[in-house]
Parts: sequence; structure tokens; C-alpha cells
Amino acid sequence: MFDNLSDKLEATFKKLAGQATINEVNIGIAMRDIKRALLSADVNYKVAKKFVEEVREKALGQDVVKSVSPAQMIVKIVSDELTEIMGGENKPLDLNTKKLPAIVMVAGLQGSGKTTFCAKLAKRLKKNGKHPLLVAADVYRPAAVDQLKTLGEQIDVPVFALSEQDALKTAHQGVDSARKNGNDVVIVDTAGRLQVDEDMMVEAEALKDQLKPEELLFVVDAMIGQEAVNTAKVFNDRLDFDGVVLTKLDGDARGGSALSIKQVVDKPIKFMSVGEKVDDLDVFYPDRMAQRILG
Ligand code: GDP
Repeated sequence: MFDNLSDKLEATFKKLAGQATINEVNIGIAMRDIKRALLSADVNYKVAKKFVEEVREKALGQDVVKSVSPAQMIVKIVSDELTEIMGGENKPLDLNTKKLPAIVMVAGLQGSGKTTFCAKLAKRLKKNGKHPLLVAADVYRPAAVDQLKTLGEQIDVPVFALSEQDALKTAHQGVDSARKNGNDVVIVDTAGRLQVDEDMMVEAEALKDQLKPEELLFVVDAMIGQEAVNTAKVFNDRLDFDGVVLTKLDGDARGGSALSIKQVVDKPIKFMSVGEKVDDLDVFYPDRMAQRILG
């Protein structure tokens, strides 16, 4: 799956093999190839450039220990740096609130995997002893409401929906219903469009202002490559979200968008979605993603 990236790195490190020190010449060759490899893994150009400069500085300052080759050292530095940039460690959801229910609002483009993620998260929270309620505030697409209801049945989690096309009213009544019925977490699925759209943003802003969610998560499809970064930036500028959910990582997306998104919007990636089934959700571990990007 990651042939491109690992092949390039291997070729680079073969060139470096047999050299006992990291010097301007061999680091230059290594960094050029690493930059190309990162670009082919969908890492944004500016992000790749900055990354390579930082790694070069770190590598040049290091004495090569006898037991490892310069190539191995560079791989380690690259891997550590990738991990660090992607947040170091997993940042868990923060659902602490004085006033129950805690609210998780989920936003993103249509087709990104929002509705599926809402159900996956509900299942996960339920397994951890919570009593979630799913709220279908994606009111313009009847199919989205039906999809959430079907998923809710599948995981045995209640779904709140109204027959009116009013996202704010649905969300407020959903929260009231949770309060009455003892649901301690509300997960609000919101409307998405195929592209960033003013009406969608205005509605999402209003939902955020009124619901004051403990967690506002932005869901983005890793398969859309560079576009994922642009979309993340637009959503973050408008909504100042708390965390990112990267979906469809079961496909052949190389995960470079994880690095770019973290660099560009500086928000933690909290979950990764790895399939269409309700169990296909993992928390995001930067070190594992670094290995994946390296191939
Ligand atoms: P929404 O429009 O953002 O609510 O997106 P949906 O949740 O309806 O997902 C759109 C499509 O992507 C559906 O066919 C889902 O089954 C599929 N999907 C969602 N998450 C994943 C994932 O992690 N991997 C794969 N392969 N498909 C996914």
C-alpha cells in the first residue's frame, strides 16, 4: 500500500549505507527523497518543506552512535518528529461537564462519514458505561435521519429526530429529551454539503453557539488528500473545533493528511475510522500513524 514511500526511503538509505557520519551531503540526499516521499503520501507542500528543514537540523546535530547506521538514525529522527508533530500522544475526548448531558457535536462535509462516526462513537461510549443519545440534526437529507435511526437500532442506542426540518429545534429538544431520560451524553449529527457552503456554516455556528458542546469534532475523509487540509482550515476558521476524526483510513490513503491537518489547524486528531462497520473505530495514536506514513 505504501510502496512509493518506503521504496524511496529504502533507496535513499541504501545510498547512505556504509557512511559513518551524518554530513551535509548525505543528509541533503536523504532529505530531498524524504520530502518527495512525504509529498507522494499527500502531505501538504509547505508542511513537508518545514518538516524536512526541522529534521535536517536535528540530524546534523547528532553524533552517530556506533551501534546504528546513519540511515537508521535518520529513520528514527523522522519517525519521532512525525509523531511529535501529530501531537505526541492520543488526546482523549473531554466530556467533563458540571451540567449533564455532555454534548458532542459532529460537523463535516457530506459523505465524510459523519453519521457513521456518530454511531461508532455512541457504541464506544456505551461500552464505557455511558448512556448516549444520538440526535439527528442533519435534517435536510431524510436518508441521513433514517441512516442514523437504523444505526441506532443496530447498536441499541436511542435516536432523537423531529419531522420538521429545523436543526436548532431538533438539537435543543434532543438535549431536553436526554436530560429527562437520563442520557449523559448527546451526540449531535449535523448537516453537511458536498462542498463548503455558507448556509451550512451559519447553521453549524448557530448550533455551536447555542449548544456549547463539550467537544466539537470535525470529520474528514482521508481519501480526499490535499483537499482535506483546505476543508479543515475553512471549518476551523469558522467553528474553532476541538478535534478531528479522520475517516476511511482502511482505504489506500497514506495518512499524510493527518500530518498536514495537525500542522495547519493545530488541533488534535482524536479518532480514526477504519471501515463501514460500527466497530471500525480506533483512537488516533500519532506514533502508529508515523509508522504508517513511513510505510
Ligand atoms: P455523512 O454524509 O458525512 O454522514 O457520511 P456517512 O456516514 O453517510 O458515510 C458516507 C459513506 O462512507 C457511507 O457509505 C459509509 O458507509 C462510508 N464510510 C464511513 N466511514 C467509513 C470508513 O471509515 N471507511 C470506509 N471504507 N467507508 C466509510
